[in-house]
Amino acid sequence: MAEGSLSITVLGSGTSTGVPTLGCHCPVCTSSDPRDNRLRPSIWVGYNGRGILVDTTPDFRTQALRANIERVDAILFTHSHADHIMGLDDVRPFNFRQGGTIPIYGSPETMQNIQRAFKYIFDGRETESSRPRLVCHTFDEEPFEVCGISIVPIRLNHGKGTVHGFRLGASAYLTDHSDIPAESKSKLENLDVLFLDALRHKPHPTHSTVERSLETVAELKPKQAYFTHICHDLGHEKTEQSFPPNVHLAYDGLKIEVRL
Ligand SMILES: [Zn+2]
Ligand SMILES: [Zn+2]
Ligand SMILES: [Zn+2]
Repeated sequence: MAEGSLSITVLGSGTSTGVPTLGCHCPVCTSSDPRDNRLRPSIWVGYNGRGILVDTTPDFRTQALRANIERVDAILFTHSHADHIMGLDDVRPFNFRQGGTIPIYGSPETMQNIQRAFKYIFDGRETESSRPRLVCHTFDEEPFEVCGISIVPIRLNHGKGTVHGFRLGASAYLTDHSDIPAESKSKLENLDVLFLDALRHKPHPTHSTVERSLETVAELKPKQAYFTHICHDLGHEKTEQSFPPNVHLAYDGLKIEVRL
């Protein structure tokens, strides 16, 4: 693996509805703390002048403007739920700027769903307007290389569905999951930074809770953990006060340097 460090930017830390949630007037949705303002979940990873995007949320354009994202050299998809794919069309300006195509990576099921949801991108028909220029790649359980970085897919249970997290060097990003299978846990040792789904306190059939993710942290012992995919039940400041010192709530715009 190459020397150096990765720069991870949290583009969004919110659940599928985002926070504030439309029409809601609860204390978190009306909070003046910017960390309580959460767009849909995604990260951007910078390495050696290149950028890897994890998921393209419905907020992608806003997120890229806000975080001054100037490159997208590859896109990794965790799964095909709407909150993780619907901004895909907005990568077109990066095709224009960078020239060439952008490789995208997902499990066979995820890639099939993306190709169905964005039929016009992939059907190869003549078009009078622009569409994203993408090259599809599927992964199984084996590591693959993107932008000179080895990416380890981490299989996760998302209720009855299967999704993937990714390990990059000493960091791992595990959004939407209810359970981490034992064989996936063995790929998550010696982490400096671990991102984990932690929707809320109340149990949910497809998402981890704060309590469950605290247990995961205690078991996997990363140096630092950041919880994401957060709903409006959790106010940033108050929730974080109850955490051990190495556990944090992620927030939009958070930037972390991690060794590769
Ligand atoms: Zn989600
Ligand atoms: Zn609310
Ligand atoms: Zn999901």
